[in-house]
Amino acid sequence: MTQQTNSAPTGDVLIKNAHLLTQDPDLGELVGDLLVRDGKIAEIGTDLSAEGATVIDGTDRAVLPGFVDTHRHTWQGAVRQTGIGWDFGAYRQHIQLTWGPEYTPEDVYVGNMVGALGALDAGITTLRDESHIQNSPAHTDEAIRALQDSGIRGVFAYGWPSIDSNKWMLRGEATHPEDIRRVREQVLTEDSARVTLQAMLRGPELSTTEVSAADLGLARDLGIRSSMHVGNGPWGPQFRGIGSLGEAGLLGDDLLFIHCCTSDDEELKMLADCGAHASVSAAIEAVLPGLGAPATGRLLKFGIRPSLSVDTEATVAGDMFNVMRASLTAHNLGVSLVPDEYADLPTFTPRDLLEFATIAGAKASGLDDRTGSLTVGKDADLIVFRLDEFTTVPSADIAASIVGAGHPGNVETVLVAGKAAKWNGRLTHPDLDAIRAQAEKSRDRLLATPLVEG
Ligand SMILES: [Zn+2]
Repeated sequence: MTQQTNSAPTGDVLIKNAHLLTQDPDLGELVGDLLVRDGKIAEIGTDLSAEGATVIDGTDRAVLPGFVDTHRHTWQGAVRQTGIGWDFGAYRQHIQLTWGPEYTPEDVYVGNMVGALGALDAGITTLRDESHIQNSPAHTDEAIRALQDSGIRGVFAYGWPSIDSNKWMLRGEATHPEDIRRVREQVLTEDSARVTLQAMLRGPELSTTEVSAADLGLARDLGIRSSMHVGNGPWGPQFRGIGSLGEAGLLGDDLLFIHCCTSDDEELKMLADCGAHASVSAAIEAVLPGLGAPATGRLLKFGIRPSLSVDTEATVAGDMFNVMRASLTAHNLGVSLVPDEYADLPTFTPRDLLEFATIAGAKASGLDDRTGSLTVGKDADLIVFRLDEFTTVPSADIAASIVGAGHPGNVETVLVAGKAAKWNGRLTHPDLDAIRAQAEKSRDRLLATPLVEG
């Protein structure tokens, strides 16, 4: 066996004596070994050996499935953190009205690339890229190419153009771009590939119920899953995204509902009854005024195990540690500030949050047959988390250490289908300097655009 070296392994990997937080209900948590062979989790046990495998000493390390971010507008990567403290009006003015129409295919490529690399650096191995920058087929193709080049497991959720925003948003009546058919038939044809296709639809709150029916018909005809933003601030009670789909007989377990902040109880029950999924973007919901409170506790009340998501790096950090902590902070703030609304809601623990950030995300993305847990036979999408650094030592409870104090710097190694995207604390992508320079150029050009009045 070869001991761990500074250069990333090209073959099999054996992790020895690590704390395995498997997220597999049959295995739970154990101290043991995990063998990665041919990109898959081949064995989990004790005293494993493997001829020729690179060995990772798992002492003082936790190993868990890579995080799954179920909703991120990754194209905004090069303008990350430009809008800390924005309200929705400022977000709309900068992103949707000013920068979106200015994006070139090159901007989309580098935005997606830095977004995906940042995600990998933070231990996110699966990214559902909610891509509403389909300004031309070239924009679409570059978004997909970046996901493929980055090394991440990607779901490209095909949205709408970021030009002529009033046509597409705020009850716009245009139906979903037909170009999604081209992508399905010519670009992302294989559902077993590392990057696959889904649809990001506007749903009844951003378009209308009639448009949503047509859009869902298209996605289902193409055999792909769909997501929609619902429970968006005041539009939730006004247009009732989940409720209107339910009344139209359109709900199904192929749907992922994002936010759900102001969806009412009847709607959450409908969501649960049809086996659909939910994505809580707790960090952005907590900082963007008017979106509504994260629905974590309310979803749990109806038996829904939510997934978690970053949403946009323009206004929040791109790692899941921040989202997990925001879920807990927002919930407990609710208990303090509006006890009448929160008193009867279920609470949740660091272990629950790790489940939401991993296997629940894989289920919400329709990928739980290949990722989201340390299970023999699944693809080896996993992270090695250091517990011996002085932000976490001495750890009394590993899940609590990861959720309570974890940050991307603790993520030492990241494998996606057994391939090292991060090794010994460093991303392995060969073109990091060139990507950095390209991202700075894109940022400078976009930020120089005069703001468009709404
Ligand atoms: Zn979003």
